[in-house]
Amino acid sequence: MEEFKLMKKVIRLLGLLMLGFASSSFSADKLENVSLLLDWKFQYEFAGFIMAKEKGFYREQGLDVEIIEYEEDSDIVESVLSQQHNYGMYNSSLSIKDGKLQPTILMATYFQQSPLALVTAKDIKRPKDIIGRTIMLSNQQRKYSALALLLDHFYINDKNTKMVPHSFNIDAFVSQDVDVMSVFKTNELYELDKRGVEYNIIDPSDYGFATSAVNLFSSFTEVSNHPERAQKFVSASNQGWAYAVAHTEETIRLIHQHYAPQKSLEALRFEAKISQQMMLLDFFQVGEVNADLSQRMLKQLKFSHLINENETLGSFLLDDVLNEASKNTDFSPQQKDYLYRKKEIKMCVDPDWMPFEKIKAGAHIGIVNDVINGFRKQLPIPIKLVPTRHWQESLLFAKSRRCDMFSLAAATPSRSVYMDFTQPYLSSHIVLATKMDTPFIGDIKEVRQRKMGVVKGYAIAEQLERQVPGINLLEVSSMQEGLARVDSGELFGYIGNLMGIANAIQHDFTGALKVSARLEGKLQLGIATRNDEPLLNEVFNRLISNIDEAQLQGIYNKWVVVKHDSLVDYSLVWKLIAVLLFITLAYLLHYLKLSKLNQLLLMQSTTDKLTGLNNRAKADLILAQNKYDVDRYKTKVSIILLDIDYFKRVNDNHGHIIGDDVLLEFAQVLQNNVRVNDFVCRWGGEEFMVICPNIQLGEAQELANKLLTKIRNHRFQHIDRMTASAGISQFSRQSSIQVSLQHADAALYRAKDSGRDQTVVYRNDEA
Ligand code: GH3
Ligand code: MG
Ligand code: MG
Repeated sequence: MEEFKLMKKVIRLLGLLMLGFASSSFSADKLENVSLLLDWKFQYEFAGFIMAKEKGFYREQGLDVEIIEYEEDSDIVESVLSQQHNYGMYNSSLSIKDGKLQPTILMATYFQQSPLALVTAKDIKRPKDIIGRTIMLSNQQRKYSALALLLDHFYINDKNTKMVPHSFNIDAFVSQDVDVMSVFKTNELYELDKRGVEYNIIDPSDYGFATSAVNLFSSFTEVSNHPERAQKFVSASNQGWAYAVAHTEETIRLIHQHYAPQKSLEALRFEAKISQQMMLLDFFQVGEVNADLSQRMLKQLKFSHLINENETLGSFLLDDVLNEASKNTDFSPQQKDYLYRKKEIKMCVDPDWMPFEKIKAGAHIGIVNDVINGFRKQLPIPIKLVPTRHWQESLLFAKSRRCDMFSLAAATPSRSVYMDFTQPYLSSHIVLATKMDTPFIGDIKEVRQRKMGVVKGYAIAEQLERQVPGINLLEVSSMQEGLARVDSGELFGYIGNLMGIANAIQHDFTGALKVSARLEGKLQLGIATRNDEPLLNEVFNRLISNIDEAQLQGIYNKWVVVKHDSLVDYSLVWKLIAVLLFITLAYLLHYLKLSKLNQLLLMQSTTDKLTGLNNRAKADLILAQNKYDVDRYKTKVSIILLDIDYFKRVNDNHGHIIGDDVLLEFAQVLQNNVRVNDFVCRWGGEEFMVICPNIQLGEAQELANKLLTKIRNHRFQHIDRMTASAGISQFSRQSSIQVSLQHADAALYRAKDSGRDQTVVYRNDEA
């Protein structure tokens, strides 16, 4: 075996030397070195690449290609994404890891149909017959392949069927240790036939679960930095495949001689025949990519809950990526790569802040929307509006990372815990609005003991409390409400930004309210971005620095309507209208106030204020709903109870305020690392709960272990490192919610007892 490897190396070396000589005679220094990582051993499966190299098609394109054979346990996708190698092969057009799509770029597909299928014992004719038997699959196949879809479709899982890891040795099947195994129809069938073993084939594509194979892929960084190289590589590879198909016998002999001497000519001929069937050359061009097939597979994976519901493909085809990359030349390679992986940016806005912005019939309007639309034209990925009912909800959404950015916000210390801020692109004076008959005020401090409204969660509130100690502020839920309460005499004044107040007075409070003081400083407004993704901040700073002043002025003029005094004296008419208006308005405001208040109450009753997660009350509701599903539909539900280790020390050493920041950061780590179907809740104090519908106890522990690892490796802002412990239990039909919670608690206690920073599962068979 060793000698054989050595011999192969020598042959390759000789080959390389000869190539070297040949090319040095014309353009030795011009050849670019690139590498291609195969996902299996040399065989006909890679004929096109081998022939492109051997026949000099790569060289003609200026490429010196190293084709690297698969080595056990190597992670091809990872090696290509981390740029250790330029290109790789994959047996599906989607590469998935931990339930998430990997950001691979699909360059070409050579097998339009995948040869991956199941070989079964003679008495297993249909998928249903597999239940109760033993099946041999690789881990990846079991989780994400067309086989996984097929098994899931027929309810075949590790509860009713024994699943064993793949030994990649057909003896296990021949000796009947396993009843079913996954095979490549191009390979193992030959061996089985030769040995006279009887079998049936269950092919997932016969049941509508189709994928491709021999997919050539690369990383975003590679193709955007070297677009021409990528195109040349594809075109030479296509040429190689066309050659391999047209000269099958020559190709087989060459592979046998120089690449795979252990595979007989006869076996290679068998492989070539099936492989060429898989290429579906009657319907597809050599190398053609079929985006529909990938989209369909993605849909099916989601349907079977084998992948996160919110995964999207974005642009993943070489041509699309190259098109878009040429559009946004302004970003650095690192920023481009970030955006590519990000796929879309989720934006929260203030739904009621004219003339800046507003959500009207589900659409974002106002000055800010016009500015953001300008950004959209320069970005390779979409900015998607996440509608909220009020600004307070936007704040909570950002905390729990349900949105990535605020379209317009001022920097404040409390927001800086979870957001970064760009340079400002708008600014506004801060003013006090009062009733018409209030005299003008020189210094706000003179009236600080009077009751003044300010919108809850606005930057102004935080700023005022620092600037004017002892100021008598009352939080209102919106500017409209604040002004109405000034108008009714309930409040002395309302403090807000000049543009907003002027706009409102012009529309709703003409003659009733006025601006009676200007406060120190201006409100500087920029874009806020989640602070765990600093590249997003760089991107928006770049976009803001591109804003054209004249254009901004144009946008501004469009939204800030200046009302001119009319020449005719309509005062009597106006007074009459005003009285009528007042009556309707008073009624409307009352209604508005109530409904707003109710919305706020509803949200507050389900959301934890500090972390933005579901609160205990909501957790109880979710638990009850899940218990119902368990009883009624026999679904599996697991709960993970987490408690931070030695959290008292954080409070003791840094104080409660920092302690709170740590809790928020902790919550974000959890929220960022669960599946969309999981519910993260603040269970109380520094205890958190993750409720996981539709997963087995083992998977819940995997998830809990992952969460603990993420926490262990996370650098917390003030305290650097921290750990947590977790107890896991499963709902069962026999026991109440209360008992399942006690089980999780008992498991957690055991995790703490055994040294913390670990997970413990409570098994229902424990007494
Ligand atoms: P361990 O869990 O590893 O046994 O040690 P611990 O120090 O974390 O102990 P325990 O879980 O019993 O302590 C919880 C502490 O968390 C008590 C309290 O001071 C603190 N805490 C609870 N809720 C909050 C909160 O909302 N904010 C802050 N800052 N601290 C909180
Ligand atoms: Mg505790
Ligand atoms: Mg604790």
